[in-house]
Amino acid sequence: MSNADSEQRVYDVVVIGGGTAGLSAALILGRARRSVLVVDAGEPRNAPAAHMQGYPSRDGMPPAEFLAVVREEVAGYGVELVRDRVTKAVPDGSGEFDVVLAEGGGVHGRRLVVATGLTDELPDVPGVAERWGRDVIHCPYCHGYEVRDEPVGVLYAPAAGIHQALLFSQLSHDVTLFLGAHGEDALTDAEWRLLAAAEVAVVTGEVADLVVTDDRLTGVRLADGRVIPRTVTVVAPRMTPNDSLLTGLGADTRDTPAGRFPAVDPTGLTSVPGVWAVGNATGPAEQVVNAASGGYRAGTAINMDLLLTDLEDRAAAATT
Ligand SMILES: Cc1cc2nc3c(=O)[nH]c(=O)nc-3n(C[C@H](O)[C@H](O)[C@H](O)COP(=O)(O)OP(=O)(O)OC[C@H]3O[C@@H](n4cnc5c(N)ncnc54)[C@H](O)[C@@H]3O)c2cc1C
Repeated sequence: MSNADSEQRVYDVVVIGGGTAGLSAALILGRARRSVLVVDAGEPRNAPAAHMQGYPSRDGMPPAEFLAVVREEVAGYGVELVRDRVTKAVPDGSGEFDVVLAEGGGVHGRRLVVATGLTDELPDVPGVAERWGRDVIHCPYCHGYEVRDEPVGVLYAPAAGIHQALLFSQLSHDVTLFLGAHGEDALTDAEWRLLAAAEVAVVTGEVADLVVTDDRLTGVRLADGRVIPRTVTVVAPRMTPNDSLLTGLGADTRDTPAGRFPAVDPTGLTSVPGVWAVGNATGPAEQVVNAASGGYRAGTAINMDLLLTDLEDRAAAATT
């Protein structure tokens, strides 16, 4: 990827964010012979993880390697890729968009794909941020199998409820739920029953920090000094879409159990004509395979939209 001089260039589509979702849209648009620029700040969400799981044919591949392969495929169809950050996207008044790059001036896009991902806000427990994506994890489908049968600690968070503890109990017989400052009253009778049936141990008392020995997680320390030996800790980050460009454009949002996310139709079209949003920018459950699928759907919808727009213009010109 180069810092190409893209000043004042006009593209059919500017893709903002070059993770899986953005690159997937770019791949299909490049194959449709569209002129496409992908602007990517280069901080994909799963970068801390050594391996990417659950993507058919690429299960276990390092995330950076996966994206490098896709970038090469995309570039093979003439798509331009630039390492930069989009700071602003503004309608030009004709249904198209001026896009401002932090380092590379401005470009013009007839259509936009916003694939900027989301930000994980981790619980403020010493040790969690340092070990995120290694032995501090969040997703049973991403990393659960790899930690099967290990002693797992789950830090309770109201947003995730007891779901993580129940899901990890399917993978390990040694799961402990730490209620922390929330206390026993955080759980309903029905939840206590489910936890008992799943044989999940429940520990009350504030969590002080994670204990690390020789660069490996070994336990969860409580404020009263007790250490519960654990080799894996599960947390529920607060997930916030990186949607400042969309809100700047006036895109509608919708409420989800994980918070407010941009409102999109099944192709990723937002409430702003000409602007699509895909991947984790549109929802927390967009795993890599879903992000790829969302990008593909948006790419085909955008190509059709551009085709019909151009043909309508040509037909109108022919009749005048
Ligand atoms: C620790 C961890 C491990 C995971 N493991 C797995 C797994 O094993 N399997 C799985 O399916 N899923 C996994 N996930 C989920 C996975 O990370 C997401 O599904 C995937 O990253 C979503 O792709 P995306 O393209 O929407 O967003 P991202 O991959 O986050 O890409 C967004 C890109 O946009 C860029 N960007 C943001 N703002 C701008 C801007 N203004 N201008 C330009 N560029 C911008 C970012 O720098 C980034 O490169 C994991 C998540 C985490 C946190």
